[in-house]
Amino acid sequence: MAEAGSFADRVKQQADIVRVVGEYVRLKKTGKDFSGLCPFHQEKTPSFTVSPIKQIFYCFGCGKGGDVYNFVMDMEKCEFPEAVKVVAEKCGIAVPRQKERSPEERKENQQRSVLVEMHREAQTFFVKPARRHAGRESGSGVSGGPRTG
Ligand code: ZN
Repeated sequence: MAEAGSFADRVKQQADIVRVVGEYVRLKKTGKDFSGLCPFHQEKTPSFTVSPIKQIFYCFGCGKGGDVYNFVMDMEKCEFPEAVKVVAEKCGIAVPRQKERSPEERKENQQRSVLVEMHREAQTFFVKPARRHAGRESGSGVSGGPRTG
């Protein structure tokens, strides 16, 4: 899913799926893989496996599987860009400013637009009387009043 060379891809290469998954699931090393109780379905014996070599997870119980992003998307119930951010933050990678915004940023943006709106209103408030004044001046010519000068 992560495009080669993209930020998501770079994060994925630096991220350790075992560490990220390990924050949600208690993992036990079994051979070259890690296993634990699947967070996506109820189970008593661990059928949830994480492969540090392939950097993927797979559950033999419910069939869920994928890379670190698929895991975070399912756990956090979020979209792909959000998952990239979560993984990047867990790995201490600075997230570049992107189109998708966090709730904080969205709020900040809303406040900014409110300010713009207020500014616009203030402008029309000050502009209106000036226009009216200008209109009266040009109107004096149309009414055919005595010319000055
Ligand atoms: Zn499962």
